[in-house]
Amino acid sequence: MSEIVIITGASRGIGREIAKRLAKKGLTVIANYNKSEKEAEELKKELEEQGAKIDIVQADVSTREGTKKLAKFVLEKYGRIDILINNAGISEYKLFTEETDEDWNKIINTNLYSVFAMSQEVIPNMVHNKKGLIINMSSAWGVVGGSLEVIYSASKAGIDGLTKSLAKELGPSNIRVNSIAPGMIYTKMNSKFSKEELKEIEEEIPLGKIGIPEDVSKCVEWLIEDKYTTGQVISINGGWIIT
Ligand code: NAP
Repeated sequence: MSEIVIITGASRGIGREIAKRLAKKGLTVIANYNKSEKEAEELKKELEEQGAKIDIVQADVSTREGTKKLAKFVLEKYGRIDILINNAGISEYKLFTEETDEDWNKIINTNLYSVFAMSQEVIPNMVHNKKGLIINMSSAWGVVGGSLEVIYSASKAGIDGLTKSLAKELGPSNIRVNSIAPGMIYTKMNSKFSKEELKEIEEEIPLGKIGIPEDVSKCVEWLIEDKYTTGQVISINGGWIIT
């Protein structure tokens, strides 16, 4: 039986590309979405036409109810979860002094609480199987901080702390936990930037270009094949941020 992988936020952008790559590799993909039902249906249709195994599951992973719903679907249908990719995320571009409690709760719950709750829902099954892999989608801003994206940066730095600690706790159970920290990747998340702003950013990147979702999905594929990397934050950013 092929490996069972849950990808949160797979209706578009980076998560969608990860779903495509892993489904084409023969993994059984459970692609989660929250609001973008049409995009998720299209993804399912496209992959099934290619003979891939894919389920789509609507669930708001910023809530315990949503994470329970998603894990329950997979455990009832397949009886196990091999890989969890915590990819769902939102960003906001705002002055810190204008941020509200609602902004804080929305961003922290979607980006960080989801990683906590989703991981809790799958880990007992992974421990039972003595095998598992969790990949958390962080960000360069989690590593170095981003102006006008303070809450977002805090949520991603939180993910990296969670990743490192959980890797230590779960290593003895043969479960690896890693973060991927992309720099700037072309997706809807960056549609707020004008052409001119994107060009300026490109000029700051040593490799001279903004990334594409495939740059991130290739790293996910590598982490699945690798068996000895855990507790790491892997930067994919064209050299934009070098620490
Ligand atoms: P995107 O194109 O905006 O896609 C975000 C995805 O997250 C969508 O599929 C969305 O699904 C899902 N999502 C949002 N809230 C959700 C919720 N409550 N429950 C379930 N799914 C939810 O963004 P992206 O650029 O692909 O980003 C993916 C991840 O990479 C994020 O964690 C982001 O922070 C990180 N990242 C991106 C970049 C970049 O430059 N693009 C850089 C660094 C890190 P629905 O539409 O169905 O709600």
